[in-house]
Amino acid sequence: MAAGEPQADCLFCKIVAGDVPATVVHETKDVVAFRDINPQAPTHILVIPRAHYPNAGDLGANAPDLAGTLLAEAASVAAAEDIADSGYRIVFNTGAGAGQTVFHVHAHLLGGRGLSWPPG
Ligand code: 5GP
Repeated sequence: MAAGEPQADCLFCKIVAGDVPATVVHETKDVVAFRDINPQAPTHILVIPRAHYPNAGDLGANAPDLAGTLLAEAASVAAAEDIADSGYRIVFNTGAGAGQTVFHVHAHLLGGRGLSWPPG
């Protein structure tokens, strides 16, 4: 399997391909941002690379420029969603033990309410 190649059994690859519907709020040639189906905050958007990498570590190791692009696009979406001034959180759950359930790297962009620390 070549790094970044689409995976037939990957839910988020199917969203990228348009085979599974999603409420897309922003897209570029490199990334897609769509609303989480089970939002944990008033604004909860998933920002993903079109290319398939299983988690943030794999993305950073194999495609560091794309990792930077993903963060920049997440910040851009935060501004567009009007949560930048009040503060927001970008989360990469990495590994099942940390709550990752979809193994196509995704930044959770959370905002629109106060966010406590530490997270659960
Ligand atoms: P993880 O648990 O891997 O960090 O995050 C996966 C996220 O994907 C969860 O927040 C979950 O609600 C979201 N999710 C799972 N299936 C779908 C789907 O079919 N559509 C959308 N928009 N979000 C999904």
